[in-house]
Amino acid sequence: MAEVDEFLKNRDDLIRVCPKCGSITLKQTPKPWEQKPGEAVRTECMLCSYKGVDFPVIKKTTVQLFRQKLKKK
Ligand SMILES: [Zn+2]
Repeated sequence: MAEVDEFLKNRDDLIRVCPKCGSITLKQTPKPWEQKPGEAVRTECMLCSYKGVDFPVIKKTTVQLFRQKLKKK
């Protein structure tokens, strides 16, 4: 996950989204400065409270498309 975040820093066109509702309002715990060695960073959706480590990273321009696909399921 840390590798992905490092990757995201250099990519302004990419964004992490909630796999359940498509929200981009996410909270990461623990914060990088609170993280203990070996502790996994978990992401939580502020909208639907979904928690996990499997939040997909997609292009910002495809967020709307991603949400439309979610609705079709
Ligand atoms: Zn959500």
